[in-house]
Amino acid sequence: MKNPFTSYLERLATAAATLELSDSVHASLQKPNAVVQKSIELTRDDGSKETLAAYRVQFNNARGPYKGGIRFHPGADIDEVSALAAAMAVKCAVVGIPFGGGKGGVQFDPKKYSTSEIERISRAFVRSMGDAIGVDKDIPAPDVYTTPTIMGYMLDEFEAMHGRSEPGVITGKPLPLGGSVGRDTATAQGAVHVLEEIVTVRGLDHTKLRVAVQGFGNAGYHAARILHGLGYTIVGLSDSKGAIFSPSGLDPITVEATKRETGALVGGDSTGTNDDLLVCDCDILIPAALDGQLTAENAENVKASMVLEIANGPTTPDADRVFAQKNITVIPDVLVNAGGVTVSYFEWVQNRQGFYWTETEVAEKLKPIMIDATHAVLEMAQEKKATLRDSAFLIGIKRIADALSARGIK
Ligand code: NAD
Repeated sequence: MKNPFTSYLERLATAAATLELSDSVHASLQKPNAVVQKSIELTRDDGSKETLAAYRVQFNNARGPYKGGIRFHPGADIDEVSALAAAMAVKCAVVGIPFGGGKGGVQFDPKKYSTSEIERISRAFVRSMGDAIGVDKDIPAPDVYTTPTIMGYMLDEFEAMHGRSEPGVITGKPLPLGGSVGRDTATAQGAVHVLEEIVTVRGLDHTKLRVAVQGFGNAGYHAARILHGLGYTIVGLSDSKGAIFSPSGLDPITVEATKRETGALVGGDSTGTNDDLLVCDCDILIPAALDGQLTAENAENVKASMVLEIANGPTTPDADRVFAQKNITVIPDVLVNAGGVTVSYFEWVQNRQGFYWTETEVAEKLKPIMIDATHAVLEMAQEKKATLRDSAFLIGIKRIADALSARGIK
């Protein structure tokens, strides 16, 4: 597969040409501001020693402190983490929240480590980063295979190092440590706001729309559940083990309850692979699992007329070209999944003011941000005759470029 950072550079180049960015502004968006690379020394439970590679990529902070998750994954190398950090900068700009973009990673397979080893790795990550992270500097959050519990260990370590309470330094925390209500459903709810707005603008009847969701984790499950509740028909669901289908509709709540009991997706009229899910007969395809799922190889066979990207980077640039030719609308990740970082921003605001909001207040503040961002992207698409992805990139890159030039980078 193509290096994910190369895909970002391709999309940046398109935006830079349309926006007529100066060479210096374009150059400053072609590389991270800083890459913090450390080695974590781990003593395993059996007493053996290991060294793990840890990174924090601080991509751009023209619009505010670096913001982005920490990923525990064997594939979390500099290219992947840099691409994700750049996407965070664009995403925060698209929804207009005052953050830049960052991302971190520790390269290891957490499934092969005990809970206490993972706690030691999490604490060591924070110690290794020293002063690189901070409430006004760089604010981590959970990502693939990191959880609110892990954010709790990281906050505890940070506060012990610095000798003060600083809950806003990390978001996605457990509620007793200052997490925000509504964070667990924010990504899915934000995605649903975006979809509903596009469905309304296009004059579609959502009760006639059939949805397939790849990935049944936090984001995929809640998206399927909320859409089902609104009257969409969920015709396909998948997780890492496979897919289930029902043309007459699946109930995600029942599927989730059964999965908790049995560990597998059960129900529907037929089963299949994840590849089958991506090309199944549906109107809206929601990738909500991994990056690089929709490629030049399978894009030709996608039957949906809309792709709602809840996952980060599920569509390769080659697949984008196929979708554009086939008139399939791709609603891009930097817009669709931005509800997650928006409620992380709310968490940071609540931590800093020491005053906490109700779930209703969080929901009421999230909705207009997602809807305004959707309208801005739709308007840009019309004005420039561009895809929604290119339009979202144009908006995000322009806002970052404006902040850079306001800082004197011309
Ligand atoms: P998660 O770990 O809770 O769930 C991931 C799901 O994907 C699991 O159900 C897993 O079984 C499934 N999966 C793994 N491999 C698969 C495969 N090959 N095919 C199909 N399914 C597979 O993760 P999540 O938090 O739901 O995140 C999912 C995606 O959404 C990721 O790309 C993530 O970066 C993105 N995202 C999540 C958030 C958030 O707030 N959770 C915010 C922004 C973006």
